[in-house]
Formats: sequence, structure tokens, C-alpha cells
Amino acid sequence: MIRRFNTMIKHKVAVFSACFFFFILASGSTVFLHLMQQFIISQSTKEVMQFAENKHIRLQNRLTREIDLTVKLAESPLIRRFFLKPDDPILKRAGIEEILAYGKAFSSGIVSWGCDADGRYYEGDTYLTTYDPDNPYHQWYPAVRDQKERFSLNIDYDYLVAHTTYLHINAPVRESDGGRGIGVVGNRIRLNTFLSFLYDADPAPIINGELYLFNNNGEITGARDSALVEGITAQAPGAKDGAMKIKKFLISDHFGEAGKKILSEVRRLESGAHFFFIEHNTQYMILHIAPLNWYMLVVRPIAFSLLLDNPITAVFAVMMGIIFLIFIVFNAYTFNLINPLLTLTGIMDTILSITPNLITVIDKDRRVIYMGKAMATMTAFKQSKACEGKQLLDLFDNEDIKGMIGDVVQRNGYFESIRKVTINGKRTFFKIMSDDILAAIQGKFILITDITATMMYGLTDPLTGLANRRNFDQCLLDEWKRAMRDRLPVSFLMMDLDLFKQYNDTYGHPQGDLLLKTVAGIFARAAKRPADLAVRMGGEEFALLLPNTKCTGALKVAEWIRNEVEKTRVPLAGTEEVTSITVSIGVACMFPSIQEKAEELVLRADRCLYEAKRQGRNRVVSLPQQD
Ligand code: GH3
Ligand code: MG
Ligand code: MG
Repeated sequence: MIRRFNTMIKHKVAVFSACFFFFILASGSTVFLHLMQQFIISQSTKEVMQFAENKHIRLQNRLTREIDLTVKLAESPLIRRFFLKPDDPILKRAGIEEILAYGKAFSSGIVSWGCDADGRYYEGDTYLTTYDPDNPYHQWYPAVRDQKERFSLNIDYDYLVAHTTYLHINAPVRESDGGRGIGVVGNRIRLNTFLSFLYDADPAPIINGELYLFNNNGEITGARDSALVEGITAQAPGAKDGAMKIKKFLISDHFGEAGKKILSEVRRLESGAHFFFIEHNTQYMILHIAPLNWYMLVVRPIAFSLLLDNPITAVFAVMMGIIFLIFIVFNAYTFNLINPLLTLTGIMDTILSITPNLITVIDKDRRVIYMGKAMATMTAFKQSKACEGKQLLDLFDNEDIKGMIGDVVQRNGYFESIRKVTINGKRTFFKIMSDDILAAIQGKFILITDITATMMYGLTDPLTGLANRRNFDQCLLDEWKRAMRDRLPVSFLMMDLDLFKQYNDTYGHPQGDLLLKTVAGIFARAAKRPADLAVRMGGEEFALLLPNTKCTGALKVAEWIRNEVEKTRVPLAGTEEVTSITVSIGVACMFPSIQEKAEELVLRADRCLYEAKRQGRNRVVSLPQQD
């Protein structure tokens, strides 16, 4: 049990510290990862926003510049004069040169123009067609010419022909500032080419982010991959003539769930505003491009792999390493601390396993927590372990032991007593000590020591090994009480060797002692039953106490003794000769009663002995009326 306890302590310390370490590791890592994640997200968000803003501003600037140029051209006096007199060759020459000069200034696109006299439509200096009021495709011309605004934009998705998108910047040419419209100049920009600058080398470096443009219908109008902008050519649904149609790629298809979210959000997006969201560790930033009424989308996966390159991660790993080392040291230190305890329990274990003392620890319900080897051998189980957990009182068959233990377990606090019990017919003396222990289990420690030998030392005659007078006095009282309780007879034999003084004087004291030892053996053999007690009362006087024995039985024993003594030959030391002796015996037998004391039995036997001596020795005398 103690060894188990030791292993348990070590085990508990190790498990506790391991759990504690892993708790710190897990919670520390979780907090660290969470914080770092937040840090990386916010860092990444900042970069994405910066990038998107940058692209947006550059796009805005370029468009504004194109618009400004167009408006400026429309307001040029050379153009006004030319448009007022389109057939004046000098004014026409100057006007065309102005237009060509502006044409060079435009970053991309073609300058187209018309004039009011006959609405001739030119691209650069090349005449193409003349305005026809009945042609529905020419209606933009009077609309722009007569508009109040300084310019207007018109996006033309010419998908089928050129897989391309045109932006028309149109501006009315007025007679005078705020006057009547006399014609139109316009710049037609091929957006596919115009927007390519967005995908040029990045001015604000961004890691693996992508930029897209899409229109109000969710159609992708700008992407690094031109195939994505062009869409696919497919047969127009229901077209019998096999007419082909361009099917544009939709932002909602391209980005799945996130794409649908983008579309639903942009519908609510106010002009010029932006919004941002993160889905599946990817950041989406959407900006409204006011003049085109398009949207710019920047998509960028959050690079959590940056975490590994981050020096803070290395610091964290080192910190965890240090904490691990601290735990190793802590464990070693704790084992060191509890070592004396383990040594102590080891010593306790050895003491408890080799001690002849009977040791038991019970809990408050009187169940065995620990039982020493010696104690266990007295139980029906014989094994310490088998006794653990059982009711202490249930372990013993012997009524004397049961009584003794039953008494002890009822006591509170320190208790000590000496008890006489009979085990296998042998008188045994036990010293019992018990005390309450360990507040936690509210149990009891019971220590039982077999003190039979010590007790017998004070109760035994050293020469003959028979009980001494003191022993007899105690036993007589016990038996007297027991016989009174059970209404049983007690017999008593008082014996005195005949003419022993003479024997002593003849053969010497040592020979006398030898004779005493020899006859004592006969008396001991006469005490056959466990309760019988052979006693040396003093000198050459002996006695035999026979509980539960009637007078006839006692007389038989007495006669047997007398005969045995008479027959016995004691060799004379140092010679071939033998010696002999006889004994006189007085027999008393009584049923004890309250009126009579135990001494009465001795007195009666003594009187009989006196009578035997008087009658000539070597005989048994008893009072006739006793049975
Ligand atoms: P009786 O038949 O009347 O009893 O005669 P007795 O000689 O036995 O009489 P008594 O009782 O007077 O003598 C006892 C003697 O026993 C006296 C003493 O020398 C002797 N004795 C007493 N104790 C011891 C002992 O321990 N060893 C030896 N050797 N002798 C003892
Ligand atoms: Mg005598
Ligand atoms: Mg005598």
C-alpha cells in the first residue's frame, strides 16, 4: 500500500505538471495565434486599402485628364470658329490641326467630331459619314450637341465585333460660353487598352493580390487575364440564323459565394464609397468608380504563412522552450522536495512489513485501509491486501479477538489496555494501543503487541517453568468468577513433597532442585486441559487448579500424580544411584457461590493436605461431603 502510495505521489506530480505545462502551451499559443492573426489581418487590410486607393486615384486622374482635354477641345475658339463656318478652308484647316494636336495629347483613343452645318462625322481628319436625323444610331449627336452639361460619358459594350468596351467622352461645342450647341467633339477610348496601366508593375507592392473591374450588371470589365474580360462567344439563345453572341463572365460566377455577396453589397453602395469584407481568409475590397459607374474589386488571400517568418513567432517559440525547461526543473525540484517523504514512506513500509506487531488502520466506517502482515495472518484471509476495504470486525472468527477489537473501535482518542485472549487453546496477552489519525479520513490507528512472553516472565516460576503464586492468584479469581457465572465446579489440589528437607540435607540443594524440576514435569502433564493450571506455590509446595472438574475427577488426577511421583526415579548426579520421593495431596472441590471466597478452596485443600501428612504422607485426602 505504501509503495503504491509512493508511485501515486510521483505519478500525480508528473501528471499535474504535464497538464499545467500543456495548459500554458495551449492557452499561450491560442492567445498568441489569435493576436498575430489579428495583427496580420489588420496589416494586410491596410495594404489592400492602400493598394485599392492608389489604383482608384490613378484611374480617376487619367479619366479626368481625358475628360478635361475633351472639354478643353470643345471650348477651343479655333474649333468654335471652324464649326460656325465649316466650309471656310482656312478655318477648317486651323480646326483640324487643333483636333489633331489634341488627338496626340490623348493617352489613348480616337478623337471623333461633327459640326452643325451638315453634321459631318469625322474620326481624326477622316470623313466617315453625315448625321441623318432619321437614323436611330445617330441620335446621340443632337443629344450631346444640345445638352447643358459640359460633357457626357457613354460606355459602349461592343462585345461581338471587337470583344472590347469603348468609352465615349462627348462634349458639346457651343457658339459662345453657355450659348447654343453648334457641334460635338468626342474622344472614344478603348477601355481594354486604356485600363492596362492598372495591371502594370505595382506602384504600391501588393503580395499576390488581384484587381478586377466590373459593371452594374456584375459583368467583368477589367482583369489581368484579358480572356476573362472578353468572355466567350456562344450562340445567341433562340437565334435561328445562328447569330453569335458574347457571353460575359460574371463576377458572381467567378467568386462563387463571395461573388454573390459582392453583388448584393454593391447595389447598396453609394457613389464613390467602398466596402470591405473577409471570407475564407480572403480579403475583398470594393470601390465605386464614379465616372464609369463601375466597381473596382481587389482580392487578396491573407498570407498567414507570414506568421512563420515573423520574428515574434521565433520569440514566442523560444519563450515556450524556456517555459518547458522551467517545468523540467520544477519537476526535478519537486521530486527532490518529496524525496524525504518518499524515503520516509519507504522506511515506514519496511517497518510495517517486518514488525511482529499487529497493525491496522481503519476509516471512520471501520473499514480496513491498511493491515500489516502479522495482523493479516490472524484473519480468515491471511493476506494484507485481501483485508483492505473490508469491515475490521468481520475478519476474525475468534470470539476473544472479536471482543477485544470491538472494544477498541468504539474508543475515541488515545486508548491503551492489556487483554488476555485464548488463541488455539493458548493463553495470549495482548497490549492494545489505538488513537485517532489523519483528520482527512477520520480513521483510527490500532497497534496490538503480543506481550505473552513478558507477562509470563513475571508469572512463571523460573526453576520449574510452572505458574507462580501471583499468576495463580489472578487465575484463581478469574476461574472462580467464571465458574460462579456458569455454575460449574472448581477443583483444587494442594501438594507438598514428603520429607523434602531430609532429601535436601542428604543429597544437597542442587539435587533437591533437580528433583523439584522432575516432579514439576509430572504436575504440568497432569494439567491436560487449556484452563488447567499447574502452580509452584513456593518451596516444595505445588498446586493444580482444575476448573470445571468435579471431585471424583480431581481425586483421579490426584491419585495419578501421587502414583507417578512415587514411581519416579531421579538419578543422583555424579553417581549410578537413583533417588525417589513421595507427595501428599489435599483435594478440595467447590461450586463457587457469592457467600464463599476463592481462598476457601485453598484453605480446604490445605486442611486436607495437613490431614494427609498427619495420616502418614504419600496419600490423597479430600473432604468426604464435597460432590
Ligand atoms: P514434610 O513431609 O512434613 O513436609 O517434611 P519436609 O521436610 O518436607 O518439611 P518442610 O516443609 O519443613 O521442609 C521444606 C524444605 O524444602 C526446607 C527447604 O530446605 C526445602 N526447600 C524449600 N525450597 C527449596 C528449593 O527451592 N530448593 C531446594 N533444594 N530445597 C528447597
Ligand atoms: Mg512443606
Ligand atoms: Mg514437605
